[in-house]
Amino acid sequence: IRSKLPNTGTTIFTVMSKMAQEFEAINLSQGFPGFGADPNLLNLVEKYTSAGYNQYAPMSGIEALRMNLAKKTAHCYGYLPDYEDEVTITSGATEALFASICAVLRPGDEALILEPAYDSYEAAIILNGGVPIHIPLNKEDFSVDWERVKSSISFKTKLIVINTPHNPTGYVWSEKDMQSLKEIIRDRNIFVVSDEVYEHIIFDGRKHLSLMGDEELREKSFVCGSFGKTFHVTGWKVGYCIAPKELTVEFRKIHQFLTFSTVTPIQYALAEYMENPKHYLAIPTFYEKKRNLFLEGLKKTELKFSATQGSFFQTVSYGHLSQKGDKQLAEDMCKELKVACIPVSSFYHDSTDNQFIRFCFAKEEQELEEALHRLLRLE
Ligand code: PMP
Ligand code: GLN
Repeated sequence: IRSKLPNTGTTIFTVMSKMAQEFEAINLSQGFPGFGADPNLLNLVEKYTSAGYNQYAPMSGIEALRMNLAKKTAHCYGYLPDYEDEVTITSGATEALFASICAVLRPGDEALILEPAYDSYEAAIILNGGVPIHIPLNKEDFSVDWERVKSSISFKTKLIVINTPHNPTGYVWSEKDMQSLKEIIRDRNIFVVSDEVYEHIIFDGRKHLSLMGDEELREKSFVCGSFGKTFHVTGWKVGYCIAPKELTVEFRKIHQFLTFSTVTPIQYALAEYMENPKHYLAIPTFYEKKRNLFLEGLKKTELKFSATQGSFFQTVSYGHLSQKGDKQLAEDMCKELKVACIPVSSFYHDSTDNQFIRFCFAKEEQELEEALHRLLRLE
């Protein structure tokens, strides 16, 4: 068979989690919570499976979940999407991202990606015949180089993929970023896929700026999110896409043949759980405590960093300590110090190595403390 993704291997998240297991290392690599979900949420799944909600859900998602997600969007971002025509429940944000990209791109169309970037964007663009155009984020603080974005636009540009809060750097978009994006796509036939899976994991009183909150931007955007990230259940793989009716029609044509619909009892459980806004409003404080604990410990190590603004990741630089490539460093760290991390070069199409590694701090305090203790040996 002739590969459609000749330059793609197994994702780094799978590789590093496997290595962590093999070497019995603390796994701060792949991003997933190391603690359980709220028992009330788990009980709701039991309630709905026992009550017989075990057959296919409607293609676009169960009504109660779409409705409550629409209400949450209004509550958080000031816009109430039409749950019938604008909201679709998907099997994880991964499916939402893929279906959005598939809906927009035709062979030869160009799609802009800001690097470092989450690995699924590039693959989805290529599989849909698109041409990824890579734009590096500013080196100092991982902010967006808007001049570079502007100069990368051509008559073939159809799409820009954005991600805030950002994986892996934790950069959070400012009002200025939103304005710049708006000006660049105004009067152009360019769509936006906005990956907002970390919308509720944001720190120091910052406010997540969803594209849903901007009238002009939401007209051209697919906003993708993930219940797995927000409610500590990444293994459930339930996500969503919110987009204007015209775009949702095309999105659903693809969704119905990718997965058709998403796990039924879990959708009912999430719908009921979301009726209490505290369940998502409490998330920033919950994670800020973990971030602070982790950063206090990191300060005592030799690693350099600036505090992550959002997401459950902290990216650190080690170039002043070692000339090793980041993949090598991650491997050695896993085997010798027994702490697994992600080499950030994996977020670049050409494996650009800036000597950064990423840690996930969505873990129990005890586990974080033990990992930090081990990192003290890094020199
Ligand atoms: N986008 C980003 C930036 C992510 O970090 C992840 C992580 N898993 C996803 C998308 C995929 O989300 P899901 O697990 O809901 O498919
Ligand atoms: N998004 C997660 C991360 O960045 C991983 C998800 C996956 O394993 N595909 O670590």
